[in-house]
Amino acid sequence: MDTLLVTGGAGFIGANFVLKAVEDGFKVINLDKLTYAGNLRTLESVANSPSHLFVQGDIGDRALVTSLLAEHRPYAVVNFAAESHVDRSIDGPAQFIETNVVGTLGLLEATRDYWRGLDEAAQAAFRFLHVSTDEVYGSLGEEGFFTETTSYAPNSPYSASKAASDHLVRAFHHTYGLPVLTTNCSNNYGPYQFPEKLIPLVIQKALAGEALPVYGDGLNVRDWLYVEDHCSAIRRVLDAGRIGETYNVGGNSERANIVVVKTICAMLDEVVPLADGKPHEGLITFVRDRPGHDRRYAIDASKLKKELGWTPSHTFESGIRATVQWYLDNKPWVQGILDGSYQLERLGS
Ligand code: NAD
Repeated sequence: MDTLLVTGGAGFIGANFVLKAVEDGFKVINLDKLTYAGNLRTLESVANSPSHLFVQGDIGDRALVTSLLAEHRPYAVVNFAAESHVDRSIDGPAQFIETNVVGTLGLLEATRDYWRGLDEAAQAAFRFLHVSTDEVYGSLGEEGFFTETTSYAPNSPYSASKAASDHLVRAFHHTYGLPVLTTNCSNNYGPYQFPEKLIPLVIQKALAGEALPVYGDGLNVRDWLYVEDHCSAIRRVLDAGRIGETYNVGGNSERANIVVVKTICAMLDEVVPLADGKPHEGLITFVRDRPGHDRRYAIDASKLKKELGWTPSHTFESGIRATVQWYLDNKPWVQGILDGSYQLERLGS
């Protein structure tokens, strides 16, 4: 009961999860394709650990997944691997279907076959945990929250592909009996997030004294969760979640995008003021909106709280402060990315 197969563990949330799991004594087999979003620098501290084995490969490669399962006999598979950026899904939806739908299907089939071959006790203990998003539920008006019974209504190619993968996971439980769990989480932020996403993008642009692009009127609302809290929720669901159930994960921290950007600006004013002494807020520039931009997401995470006792340990204020400080303290990590395929340009317009 100590070996996990984690997919996508070189990405933002997956790597945060892997680092903590290794620290907590798990053995982690980390399967990641190393797309533009995968980064081995994030895993440097566990690179030589006997408790961490990195394998470069695709979740849709059934032969590879089958051999990893047979060799390492994990008691759970935790599936983070995905194409994850809405803007990239607008530019090129096909890769999202390839990984998030077809790839997840391959992973499910290989896992089902491995699970069928386990003895009764190991079958009962086994879990397949699928990490998904609140974006599958579509967009809210000014009132209300997503619950686990909200109908799926995905609006972007990204959320449509995640919705399809959630349905496949559900179907593998009902059709084959695979013991699955699904988590649907709100927007994450924190250490090691690829700088195409709002919070690290704004931090990088602000540090460079460049315009801070805000889509549309800046009033789109997201619920924000510090990545450590998402990882602790996944661990809790893995330990105690009811088989076949889905759990919404959220931070109870709704913020309009413009408020998020202004909060970052105010923190940077304190710790790294601009040379001319002007506030960073003056760099904010409203740009053409994202096509199909969902207006508001808000999560009701009371099922997870009531059933499994999980609550987030960070407020938005403490999490964003820790995040800004992390990016200030880890400039070479970001520079390693900016020297490669991405230079903070606009995507998905
Ligand atoms: P990310 O883009 O930072 O990382 C994804 C990782 O998956 C990368 O390391 C990449 O190399 C790997 N990968 C991509 N395709 C692969 C394939 N075919 N086979 C193996 N590995 C592959 O993403 P993230 O932000 O860490 O998100 C992780 C998961 O959490 C995703 O499933 C995403 O949908 C979900 N999620 C993310 C958020 C968020 O705010 N970031 C919120 C809720 C749910």
